[in-house]
Amino acid sequence: MQAYTDTAEVGHYIQGRRTPGQGTRTQPIYNPATGGVTRELRLASLEDVEAAVRSAAAAFPAWAATPAPRRARVMFKFLELINAHHDELAAIITAEHGKVFSDAHGEVARGIDIIEFACGAPQLLKGDYTEQVATGLDNWTMRQPLGVVAGITPFNFPAMVPCWMFPLAIVTGNCFILKPSERDPSVTLRIAELLSEAGLPDGVFNVVQGDKQAVEALLSHPEVQAVSFVGSTPIARSIYEQGARHGKRVQALGGAKNHMVVMPDADLGQAVDALIGSAYGAAGERCMAVSVAVLVGDAADRIMPLLAERARALKVSHGMDETAEMGPVITQDALQRIRNYLDIGTSEGAQLVLDGRNLKVPGHEDGFFIGGSLFDHVTPSMRIYQEEIFGPVLSCVRAPDIDSAIHIINEHSFGNGVACFTRDGHAAREFARRIQVGMVGINVPIPVPMAWHGFGGWKNSLFGDMHIYGEEGVRFYTRQKSVMQRWPDSESKGPEFAFPTHG
Ligand code: NAD
Repeated sequence: MQAYTDTAEVGHYIQGRRTPGQGTRTQPIYNPATGGVTRELRLASLEDVEAAVRSAAAAFPAWAATPAPRRARVMFKFLELINAHHDELAAIITAEHGKVFSDAHGEVARGIDIIEFACGAPQLLKGDYTEQVATGLDNWTMRQPLGVVAGITPFNFPAMVPCWMFPLAIVTGNCFILKPSERDPSVTLRIAELLSEAGLPDGVFNVVQGDKQAVEALLSHPEVQAVSFVGSTPIARSIYEQGARHGKRVQALGGAKNHMVVMPDADLGQAVDALIGSAYGAAGERCMAVSVAVLVGDAADRIMPLLAERARALKVSHGMDETAEMGPVITQDALQRIRNYLDIGTSEGAQLVLDGRNLKVPGHEDGFFIGGSLFDHVTPSMRIYQEEIFGPVLSCVRAPDIDSAIHIINEHSFGNGVACFTRDGHAAREFARRIQVGMVGINVPIPVPMAWHGFGGWKNSLFGDMHIYGEEGVRFYTRQKSVMQRWPDSESKGPEFAFPTHG
């Protein structure tokens, strides 16, 4: 597969075409594997945000009035195109994010799942109807689009997370403005072009590149009806509060600290594979990465040597190296943050079984690489346990039994994903029932729900009451209207002053 090497400046996508906009501020985009700047990103000015909102607002009436099957046909065409360009999109992701190509490919595939789901728009928008709620009176409900809606997305899934939002927003009749991460923004412009090629009318999907300034302009804009956000918890909380203050519907997904419990009866070989893949895949920069292993009873002493051996053997290289299991992290700052956490953990008394800081990738000495790191004897009072490290660091906590494992996890401030590896069906059932976490895997390390089930954590991992995509996504991007209708077959009986009843 060919690497992505475009060096052109990255701008916005407004009214069906690429535009540099009017902003004068720029920011470098890095290739994390080399540490070098590959292109410049132009950050949106307030005028650029305004242009995107105007474009979306102008497109809305006609798009909302377009029959749902016709909107779905555009999505079907887009589905064909994104499948045809799957490799190209994955290569763009690898060039800016750094994750290995096969993982980038998988990310696009999970985005495609949602696009396929969105193709069912006519079915998804079907309303309810009750005939004869009173004599000669019928009542039905329908769901209608909100108008202009916005999405603000993180660096770690530059294609998949936008796909959690815009396909459903668009097929339900809204016009969408995406503000992608500044770190890896290019893939969204290709997606925008493919949407246009699929026949999406100009203005229905727009991209504005930018930072806090663009986000705040969207949050306070009276024309923007709803905001979907995915990113870190402090920003998610602030987006939720600001959006609510401006009267908007908000769903804001935050950070995570995902645990995987290994019971003494688990298949240890499978548990090791699961922990290695989910802790170190994408260099730990997944919101569903397992960053804490809770080792129950004698599972701890039996699994630690196997984990250390496998983590030590991780093949770390640039993302286009087909043998690579893990690529670099996103920025020099992220690298420094992760390195610091290794110091913090050591000073807190955890045992650093494997220290990834000495890793060198030949030919990529300036890349943002760090090897897999492994802590044992981590306790819940430590910062490395409480805080999201967001890097290839696995912390192992020991617990005497399943009750204490569940207690430890339920006390954590995050509640995104969790897993339990066991052969005991009763233990698994109790675990799934009692755990205070939004997404649960039983012998599944990264339980990302399918497109029709919806995705969302609990506690500090999600602000708002709706999960993203699935039927909750349809509800988020539409509002219910209830219609009561009577067609009298005789003359009016005159006004009625009593409250209507089911007579
Ligand atoms: P981030 O919070 O730094 O940025 C997310 C988005 O918010 C970006 O578009 C960014 O430009 C914007 N932003 C940043 N600072 C802002 C500010 N002060 N005001 C307004 N907007 C601002 O997150 P990130 O580093 O890009 O992504 C990693 C984080 O995202 C991790 O915490 C990870 O757990 C989380 N994440 C969560 C999920 C989930 O489903 N819960 C999924 C993916 C990532």
